[in-house]
Amino acid sequence: MIYNGKFKVTSPFGRRVLNGQPGDHKGIDVVGLGDKHVCAVVSGTVAASTMILDKSDRTWEWGNYVRVDGVDGRRYYYCHLSKRLVKAGQQVKVGDHLGIEGNTGYSFGSHCHFEVRENGVSINPAPFLGIPNKAGTYGTDWRAEVQKKFGLSKDTMTYLDKYKYAADLYMKLGKA
Ligand SMILES: [Zn+2]
Repeated sequence: MIYNGKFKVTSPFGRRVLNGQPGDHKGIDVVGLGDKHVCAVVSGTVAASTMILDKSDRTWEWGNYVRVDGVDGRRYYYCHLSKRLVKAGQQVKVGDHLGIEGNTGYSFGSHCHFEVRENGVSINPAPFLGIPNKAGTYGTDWRAEVQKKFGLSKDTMTYLDKYKYAADLYMKLGKA
């Protein structure tokens, strides 16, 4: 999953109207509802981890972005990050943290624009997230899963929430 926990699709792939202008949305926009780390959905090599500042290059719109060249030959783009956590040349596995969601580049609110290209053509990225290409809330509420699984009280959960790696802990315990 692109997020550790629940996330929302705010703008699907395909035709859309943005700020009154009709256009073709080449990716899918997702927003993490809990943990804001953006994770690799396919293993591969980081081909770019950068931010283009020269506005004559339209790539500036992506802000801080990470491109992963997948083991499947496709290219994966994770854009508008507030922070990048990987470097070009690095190998990444599914689930590895690539960066933190943000609002850099041509963006109106914190989200991640996720795009998949096959032979240079943008394809529907939703199947790579294991979700349908439509607005909605997806992912697992690991915190709720863990609370139920171990019968933890509200106070215990509040205590655990303060732990820096709470989101990671919930996912590990939830999956275990
Ligand atoms: Zn987008």
